[in-house]
Amino acid sequence: MEIELITIGTELLLGQVLDTHQQWLGRRLAERGRPLARQITVPDHGPAICGAVQTALGRADLVITTGGLGPTDDDLTRRLLADLLGRPLGQDASVAAHIEGFFRQRNRPMPESVLVQAQVPEGAVVFPNRHGTAPGLAIEVAPNPFGDGSEPAWLILLPGPTRELRPMFDEQVLPFVEKRWPQREAFHCRILRSLGIGESAVEETLREPLRLLLVRGLELGYCARIGQVDIRLSGCGPDMPAILDEAETAVRALIGKHIYGMGDETIAEAVVAQLTAAGETLAVAESCTGGLLGHHITNVPGASAVFAGGALSYSNAMKQKLLGVSESTLAEHGAVSKPVALEMAEGALEAGGADHALSVTGIAGPDGGTPEKPVGTVWLGLASTGRRPVALRKFHPFDREAFKHATVHQALNLLGRRLQKNS
Ligand code: ATP
Ligand code: MG
Repeated sequence: MEIELITIGTELLLGQVLDTHQQWLGRRLAERGRPLARQITVPDHGPAICGAVQTALGRADLVITTGGLGPTDDDLTRRLLADLLGRPLGQDASVAAHIEGFFRQRNRPMPESVLVQAQVPEGAVVFPNRHGTAPGLAIEVAPNPFGDGSEPAWLILLPGPTRELRPMFDEQVLPFVEKRWPQREAFHCRILRSLGIGESAVEETLREPLRLLLVRGLELGYCARIGQVDIRLSGCGPDMPAILDEAETAVRALIGKHIYGMGDETIAEAVVAQLTAAGETLAVAESCTGGLLGHHITNVPGASAVFAGGALSYSNAMKQKLLGVSESTLAEHGAVSKPVALEMAEGALEAGGADHALSVTGIAGPDGGTPEKPVGTVWLGLASTGRRPVALRKFHPFDREAFKHATVHQALNLLGRRLQKNS
C-alpha cells in the first residue's frame, strides 16, 4: 500500500516550528513495515491544501493530513476537504458532548465556536481525542474521483498538537490501518541502540558478518545522531524472527559493549533500569553540562528511587564548597582535568550517600580552549563505593548544546557499562 503524508501549517514552512510529525509518523509507520511513500508540507491556505490532497489521492491508497482541525479561522482542513469530497458536514452528538465535557471538567466557559470541531463529514470514522477537542477523522473516498477509478482511497485527518496526535495515532489510527490493510507477510523490526562508536565503524564491523543474513532477506539500516548510532534490523516473512535473532546475536558479539538498549530506549532509561534492578543509587556532579545530566535522569519515570541528586558546580569555588575539590588540585591541574573529575565524583558520592557518582567537567567553547585542552575537551569521572574511581577523557568539538548532549550520553554510558559488568 502507498501512504502519503501532508503536514499543514504555515508556521512549518516559515521555519518557526519544526515538522516533527513527519519524523514521528514516518518512523512509526516504517517500524510497522509501511514506510511513507511521500511527504509534503503546505501552508494554511485553501487552494494549497486542496491541491495537495487531490494530487495525493490520485496516487496513494491512504493520505494522512495533520493540523488545521481546531476552531480558529486559520483551521481550514475539515471544511475544505469535506467540500472537496462533496461530503456534507453534520454535528456528531458524541463529539459535541465530549467537547462540552472537556470544558466543564476544566471549569472553563465554552466558546460557541469550538463546537465547529463536532462537525463530521457524512460517513466518516471518528477517532475521539482524549487530550483535546478536535477528533481525528477517516473518510473513505469511494469512488475516488482523483485516481484511476479502480481502487478507493482513504483520507485520514489528524489534529496538529503533538500531545493529541501521538496517542490518537498509536491507539486508534495504527490499529485502523493494520486492520484495513493487513500485511501479506508480517513485518518484523528490531532496533539496537549503540553509543561510543561511529557510524562507519559500526557499518564496517557488521557488513561482512551479516552478509549471509542479508541474502536471506534481512534489511539492515543505520541512523546516526550525536554520539549515537541506531542499528535497525528488519524484514518480512515467517522466517524473519529467527533471522533477527541470529542477526542480533551477531551484532552483540561484534559490538555488544556499545549496545545499551533496544527500540526507543534512551541511555538514561537504560541506566535508571539497571540501577533499579541492582537496587543502587546515583549522585552527579556537573560543571559544563549545566544540569543536563540531572535533567535526563529525572526525565525517566521512577528516577526518584535511584537518583539522589547532584551539584551544579560551575565555578571553582562551588566545586570546592559543594564537592570538597581541593584548591591545590584546581591550581595545579585546572578545572578540566582528571584529578578534578575524580575529586568531583568522590565528593558527590559522599554528599549524596550514593552507590555511584558521575562527574563531568569540560570546555564547551567557543572560547577557553588551549593547545593541550582544546574546546570540546571533557573529563568524565565515575566513583562507586568500594572501588577505585575512574576518569575518562573525551573530545566533543561541537556547538555548546551538542557538546552537552554528547557529554551526558557518554557519562551515562560510562556508568551503564560498569553496571552491565556488575550484573
Ligand atoms: P488546535 O486545535 O490546537 O488549533 P489544529 O488541529 O488546528 O489544533 P494546528 O493549529 O495546525 O492544529 O497546530 C496546533 C499546534 O501543533 C501548533 O502549535 C502547531 O505549530 C503544532 N504543529 C502542527 N503541525 C505540526 C507538525 N507537523 N510538527 C510539529 N508541530 C506541529
Ligand atoms: Mg489550529
